[in-house]
Amino acid sequence: MRLKVYQRVVSYRISLLIIVALTTLIVGNFSIAKAHTEQNIRLVLQITIDGLRADLINRYANGFAKDGFRFLMEKGTYYTNAHYQYANTETIVGHATLATGTFPSQHGMVGNVWFDREAGELAYNIEDPDHPIIPTRKNETKGEQVDPAQKISRTQGRSPAVLLAPTIGDGLAAYYGGRSKIFGVSGKDRSAVSMAGHAGKAFWFSTNTGDVVTSTYYYDTYPDWVVKWNDQRQAEGYAGKSWALLNDPSTYLLADQDDRPYETDLRGYGRVFPHPFGQADDKLLYTRIFVSPIGDQLTLDFSKSLIIHEQLGQDEIPDYLSISFSGVDAVNHFFGPSSLENEDVVVQLDRTLAGLFSFIDKNIGLKRTLVVFSADHGMADMPEYMTGLGYKAGRLGPDEIVAEANKAGQKFGVDEIVRFFYRPYLYLNNKKIANAKLDTVKVEQAIADVLTNFEGIALAVPTSRLPSQQANPLVAQVRRNHHVTRSGDIYIIQEPYWFLFDKGPVRAMHGSPWRFDTHVPIIFMGPAIKSKTVHRLVHPVDVAPTIAALLGMTPPGSAQGLILEEVLR
Ligand SMILES: [Zn+2]
Repeated sequence: MRLKVYQRVVSYRISLLIIVALTTLIVGNFSIAKAHTEQNIRLVLQITIDGLRADLINRYANGFAKDGFRFLMEKGTYYTNAHYQYANTETIVGHATLATGTFPSQHGMVGNVWFDREAGELAYNIEDPDHPIIPTRKNETKGEQVDPAQKISRTQGRSPAVLLAPTIGDGLAAYYGGRSKIFGVSGKDRSAVSMAGHAGKAFWFSTNTGDVVTSTYYYDTYPDWVVKWNDQRQAEGYAGKSWALLNDPSTYLLADQDDRPYETDLRGYGRVFPHPFGQADDKLLYTRIFVSPIGDQLTLDFSKSLIIHEQLGQDEIPDYLSISFSGVDAVNHFFGPSSLENEDVVVQLDRTLAGLFSFIDKNIGLKRTLVVFSADHGMADMPEYMTGLGYKAGRLGPDEIVAEANKAGQKFGVDEIVRFFYRPYLYLNNKKIANAKLDTVKVEQAIADVLTNFEGIALAVPTSRLPSQQANPLVAQVRRNHHVTRSGDIYIIQEPYWFLFDKGPVRAMHGSPWRFDTHVPIIFMGPAIKSKTVHRLVHPVDVAPTIAALLGMTPPGSAQGLILEEVLR
């Protein structure tokens, strides 16, 4: 009997322990789950507008409705004074910085293109021969490539293999044991791949077919819903149609900036409205569609399909979707940021964003969505436009720069001392310098001094001396851009509004350390985030750590930015 009583007591105690343990587990789990979703965030929606200089959303605000840009600017915490802190303000550099919260010196994306010293040729940022693009059609027609960076790509493979830092998506994947769904969508491959990070999946548009594509890094075959989306041939449906102004011409601030001789006519696309896309067999059809508001509309349509079919934001584990809209940048490059085309593409993007917000609200709920909005870089006005207004600017050809540097090299007895130049980096022939038993530092400095005196160049910075150079703020921007193997030996900074190229259909550029290229908007909108405008100086490296803080996560491993406190208050 005694034994039985004892057994009962023991079993009672064991049951109690089990109940206590279970209760702790349940309550514990509940409180953890609660902490994780304190803001009840089910989707992190990171919107990046390629080339949206911060002032453009003020300049065109009269043309906006209430539910697009204005909705963001008025409902969210809106930072009006955000600037990139490195020198080479290009697309992959900006996207990688937003995704990782660190500088090119750490994430390794020093430019859209860099010189691969080992291979002795140029490399396109996200190319990867091991992960080819999965074909979408049996007979793929080849469109004509006008993106100068894409033209350099040696292979058609794409992956984040050369992105050297973890992204916010990678952090989410690790934190939630791989249960968070992570996607990157864009008109451009580099803008989708960088944001999707290493753990996510990326989709982008092909200018060969007008289809959405991905690579074998992400999938073996296309998901059914992607096949169905591509089968609609939406882009092809625009053959024979034109890009027309959305509103009455008299309502545009830049109505008289349409027909300007320095704009590019993409073989029949014209310099004035309406711009005809061309017929289905035209090799520039899909390029023209992406140099118009239609590319962004297709990007939205595909993203909607992704949200539905991948069931984003439908459970308590927050998912991540990056959408990078490429239209503004494409239009800037061919028509300039002060063109009627630029005003219309931004005004039409306002409608696209409104469509995105209402779709998210209906399917997930804006109350459960953290919207993070920014741009990858700004844009410089064209030298011809600025000269017309009285500010002297011009274009400096790469051949001139190389010739001048080689002349400086000859003074040291070395012929053709330049191994390669691709803006902004000049790569020297280090073998020749070593064989001549010259002091590299002295040679670099002498060439940099000659180039700095050249009209159109503000400063040429020898990168071997970066650690000892502190005073000039431009040098700090070059230092943050410096990756030890990928960067060149001399960094060339043009004067404001000067461009380091003179040929090709691309007429306007970004990529300088000047304010028109570094200035971008940053807006956070979501549950418990206050409606507020903040004018203090902040930086795009702050974006990823702030997202992490809102989710209760550690920032991405290499992040250097600070938490934007106004967002969490
Ligand atoms: Zn860009």
